[in-house]
Amino acid sequence: MKIVLATGNKGKLREFTKMCETEVVAFADILGEVEIIEDADTFKDNALIKARTIYEKLKNEDAIVVSDDSGISVPILGGIPGIYSARYAGEGSSDKENLQKLVNAVKALGIKMTPAYYTAAIAIVSKHGEYVVHGWMHGDVLSTTRGEEGFGYDPMFVPKGYDKTLGELDDEVKKSISHRAKALSLAKPIITMLQR
Ligand code: IMP
Repeated sequence: MKIVLATGNKGKLREFTKMCETEVVAFADILGEVEIIEDADTFKDNALIKARTIYEKLKNEDAIVVSDDSGISVPILGGIPGIYSARYAGEGSSDKENLQKLVNAVKALGIKMTPAYYTAAIAIVSKHGEYVVHGWMHGDVLSTTRGEEGFGYDPMFVPKGYDKTLGELDDEVKKSISHRAKALSLAKPIITMLQR
């Protein structure tokens, strides 16, 4: 049974391939460019929109489509950027621009750090129905950036129990504690069951 990933992100493709121990293909390799309008107001529903759109377009009822939606939320700022994490500094904005905007927002509060958390929702759509699982990583965001590891908001995020940002910590550390790793560990048994 084919596992199709509803993302064009090569890093995510690698992670999923490892986890599923079977062939995983990116939807773009089968369908080319597909417009997906992520207009829901939760990570869960946006992940479902991606997976449903690709499942319907594939017209292969044996496919298992997996998607994820993720972001960072800062409670003192009302939960922003949340589902808007990828476009916080505007449509088409870069990771660097989004990061700088959040650093500026924390700085404007006149504080050095404040609690924040990452969320990852993974949706799985197949002929057997729809599943969604979540993973979270809690910590603090800083009013500055440190380190070059990771991506997105990682240089300003210090995970709970650590004194370094994800920009300074080894990628292997992040893999063991991340929101995505936690969601993947919950998705794995579901995908294994669907493959039987
Ligand atoms: P998407 O899930 O691919 O739509 O990405 C959501 C956005 O959230 C990314 O562009 C990043 O800005 C942010 N994000 C999600 N997960 C992470 C992470 O593990 N580190 C840093 N930023 C992240």
